[in-house]
Amino acid sequence: MEKVDIAIVGAGPAGLTSAIYGARARAKTVVFETGLPGGQIVTASWVENFPGFPEGVSGQELGDLMHRQAVTAGAEFRTISPVEAIRADGCDYVMTVDGQEVGASVVVLATGAIPKKLGVPGEIEFTGRGVSWCATCDGPLYQGKDVVVVGGGDSATQEALYLSKIVNEVHLVHRREELRATQCIQEECFLNPKILMHLSYVIDEILGDDGRVTGVRLSSRENGPDKIIPVQGVFEFVGIDAQSALVADLCDLDEQGFVKVDRNGLTSRAGLYAAGDVCDYELKQVVTACARGAFAVYHAVHYLDSRICRT
Ligand code: NAP
Repeated sequence: MEKVDIAIVGAGPAGLTSAIYGARARAKTVVFETGLPGGQIVTASWVENFPGFPEGVSGQELGDLMHRQAVTAGAEFRTISPVEAIRADGCDYVMTVDGQEVGASVVVLATGAIPKKLGVPGEIEFTGRGVSWCATCDGPLYQGKDVVVVGGGDSATQEALYLSKIVNEVHLVHRREELRATQCIQEECFLNPKILMHLSYVIDEILGDDGRVTGVRLSSRENGPDKIIPVQGVFEFVGIDAQSALVADLCDLDEQGFVKVDRNGLTSRAGLYAAGDVCDYELKQVVTACARGAFAVYHAVHYLDSRICRT
């Protein structure tokens, strides 16, 4: 069985930073990833709050730069199949990938989180036919058309701003009177004449005809009138779900399924670390994911150097 020092599962900002730190510590560091390196940021049109990029940077470019840096540092990447299972084996771990077993002294879980779905009628039917979770990927298809963006957080507002540069009008639908997003992004949205706010409204149904989205039906959570808005696209940004199933039987999760870690990134189990959006800490930013990846591997390397395996 192949054996590595540090196995990193996931190549988002947390996983890629972990890879840079692991490889630079001269540990045999292997990253397992199924998609493009960069994780969720490859779907972010523009990142304005990552230090070092005064004009901002596209999520895809930032992911690519981090990936190149990890490769230069000496990390190995396996980007074929998902990790199917992780089990403890004494004080090591064994991962199953493509039916093969790979042993690891330390695992860093950096599997991130995936966008939540609204769960309203029409959503599944029109997925890929007007309903999307990625403005960078699908926004250009809506040039000159009208779209709805759902949500009031950083993702919804940032992607509404991005879409406003492409589409005719963006209808931002949020279930409360106040947005949750960072203040400066909110201000930009309110000042943007192409973004129309529907506050205290929820989507009851995504409407369509001939296999394509034609509109949304909204109801007010206050006393406003119900509305039907004709749009060709619906972009959903209503939060994220932790991708923690791989370690659900190995370590403690919080009630929402995020992995509980201490300040060093250690889970409730020795040798199993986690970093980034899969963890239970509050501030989920690219910069914090990177920082947590660095902390996790810094401590993982100390653990590797000091451990006396008694199996
Ligand atoms: P979020 O901050 O959890 O916001 C989700 C939004 O969707 C909230 O406004 C929420 O409403 C709304 N919502 C949730 N469930 C809903 C439902 N069933 N129906 C209608 N609306 C619903 O999620 P996010 O914007 O995806 O951001 C996730 C994390 O990533 C956050 O920590 C965020 O700061 C971070 N992020 C960072 C950056 C960056 O660093 N540049 C960019 C994007 C995201 P309520 O407000 O009423 O709860």
